Amino acid sequence: MTTNRPVLIAGGGIGGLTAAIALDRKAIDAQILERSTFSEESGAGIQLGPNATRILRRLGVLDALDPQTFRPDAVWLFDGRNGKKLATVPLGAFAQTRYGAPYITAHRADLHEALRTVASDCTHVSLSPEFTVTDVRDEDGISVTGSDGETRNGSLLIGADGLWSTVRGWVAPGMAPSFTGATAFRSLIPRDALPEPFSSPIVGLWLGPRSHLVHYPVQGGEAVNVVAVTEQGEKEEGWNRSAAKETVLGNFARWNDAPLGLLDAAPSWRAWSLFGLPALPHWSRGATVLLGDAAHPVLPYLAQGAGLAIEDAAELASFLGQTPSQLSRAFQAYEAVRHPRATRVQQASRRLGRAYHMGDGFLGEVFRNTRNTILGLRSETATLRGFDWLYGHGG
Ligand SMILES: Cc1cc2nc3c(=O)[nH]c(=O)nc-3n(C[C@H](O)[C@H](O)[C@H](O)COP(=O)(O)OP(=O)(O)OC[C@H]3O[C@@H](n4cnc5c(N)ncnc54)[C@H](O)[C@@H]3O)c2cc1C
Repeated sequence: MTTNRPVLIAGGGIGGLTAAIALDRKAIDAQILERSTFSEESGAGIQLGPNATRILRRLGVLDALDPQTFRPDAVWLFDGRNGKKLATVPLGAFAQTRYGAPYITAHRADLHEALRTVASDCTHVSLSPEFTVTDVRDEDGISVTGSDGETRNGSLLIGADGLWSTVRGWVAPGMAPSFTGATAFRSLIPRDALPEPFSSPIVGLWLGPRSHLVHYPVQGGEAVNVVAVTEQGEKEEGWNRSAAKETVLGNFARWNDAPLGLLDAAPSWRAWSLFGLPALPHWSRGATVLLGDAAHPVLPYLAQGAGLAIEDAAELASFLGQTPSQLSRAFQAYEAVRHPRATRVQQASRRLGRAYHMGDGFLGEVFRNTRNTILGLRSETATLRGFDWLYGHGG
């Protein structure tokens, strides 16, 4: 950063807003170019582990978000076919004490709004809504062009423009997401309309053949977010298309009556296809660097996409603060730390997905029974301790 130009950030989602706030804390000017009006319409819930909330607390975002969050006591695991409870993994006070930061659930829109509010109050952050980045140039400083032809100049560019990143096309041409074959359906249900365990203060995780179901309170505990994932469906872009109840129920036809009742209680459904991306050869080119889903989208089985974007943003800002005049050194240090971390989370997420979805066919049935037995034999805290590497990160 040899000029007094701002850091340009393409994308004002979870990673882009966090990066701008983290740069502000280092007195580095940042300009966020966001194609929307900074309104998050994707009405899904989100889980944030202590690895993410620790950073949000340090940046002053957790306080802004707190009234809208929920702190679940535990994860309860169930077999989706027979309805049997398999295991409890403690969260709540246990996770808070173990990791020094809370495990929370929230509505994505509330997280986005808290980030936007804090960013708006930052001296060094400016927000440019309705600016869709269409082109990147790196000649004597970085410049980006918007869809209306307007150009912005900066000292460097952070591509935080999500799964369908335009900036990635500049950094790693030809690398595009591919459909995994799975679809996620989501809905929001008033909590007082639901029976236990769906209204319980927990994250409920129901495992079934080639499918699973997650539910947890959001909006301060007023509503329950439901996400149903199945290894079927059409390849379509977008996170917010509507889906018929019959389609969702059809995918869970042989499930137990209790989770089926939850699916039936949902007033409406939204769907999105799950995409993956092969590892990029590099995350930066010249004065441009990627973070979050633009660099390494992760399947939702470990609920860590936002967590990784938040971690990326904080670490990138830290390296830029340490060596502001040596971009390539900062980018190399960032990638050296973040690449193995993101890869580990991606691999763990895929592994969990396979374990969640066991039970298809004769062999699958054997695996499912073995999985259920192992889950039942483990002590409550042992399962959580297995995730110390994840939630203890940066502690
Ligand atoms: C329904 C759902 C549930 C999820 N649940 C969890 C969870 O429980 N826990 C978790 O950690 N993660 C979860 N995730 C994943 C998480 O939301 C993403 O991994 C995270 O948002 C990635 O952050 P990001 O900043 O990289 O991208 P995003 O938050 O997607 O932000 C990208 C931004 O870039 C903007 N943009 C795109 N293209 C351009 C352009 N050309 N010019 C300007 N702006 C542009 C977009 O409008 C958007 O605002 C979930 C995702 C979804 C969809």
